[in-house]
Amino acid sequence: MDLSSWMFIFVMSAGCGMACMIIARSKGYRGTAILGWLAAGLIFSIFGLIAVILTSHGVEATPVASATCPYCGALLPSDASLCPRCGANPARVG
Ligand SMILES: [Zn+2]
Repeated sequence: MDLSSWMFIFVMSAGCGMACMIIARSKGYRGTAILGWLAAGLIFSIFGLIAVILTSHGVEATPVASATCPYCGALLPSDASLCPRCGANPARVG
C-alpha cells in the first residue's frame, strides 16, 4: 500500500475513535470506559464503531428502577433525599 492508503486508514481510525467516544458518552459510559471505547475505535476502526452502536449500557440510563425506598418500596425520584410516600430517609446505594 502507498502512503495515501495508510493516511486514509489513519484518518478513518482517528475518526472512528472520536465517534466511538461521543456515542459511548451519549450511552451513559463514564471515565475509563470512554477511553476504552476510544481505543476500540482506534484499533478496530469501523468495527469498534459498530460495536459501540450495537452495545447497550442501561445501568446509568435508568436510575429510577434501582432507587426504591427500603421501608415502603416506593419508587424514589433521582433527586429525592426523602421518600415521597413514607418520609423516610433511605440510605441510598449507588
Ligand atoms: Zn418510603
